[in-house]
Amino acid sequence: MFSLSKLIWLGVILFVVWKFFRFVEKRQALKERSDANNEKPANKQDSDNDTLDAIYCSRCATFAADERCECADSGIFD
Ligand SMILES: [Zn+2]
Repeated sequence: MFSLSKLIWLGVILFVVWKFFRFVEKRQALKERSDANNEKPANKQDSDNDTLDAIYCSRCATFAADERCECADSGIFD
C-alpha cells in the first residue's frame, strides 16, 4: 500500500537523479565546447600556412614551400 511519505521520497529521489544527470550532461557539453575552442585556432593556423606558403609543382609533382620549386632552380627539367 502506498503511503504519502513513500511517494514524497520517490519524488525526491527522482528529482535528485534527474538533477544529477542534468549536471553531468551540462559539464560534458562545456568540456566538448572548450575542447573545440582549443583545437580551432591550431587548425585554422595550419590551413592558413598551407594555402599561403605551399604551391604545387606540376613538373616534379610535389608541394614546394616557396613560390618557386627547387627543380626550377636546379634546372633538372631544362
Ligand atoms: Zn618542381
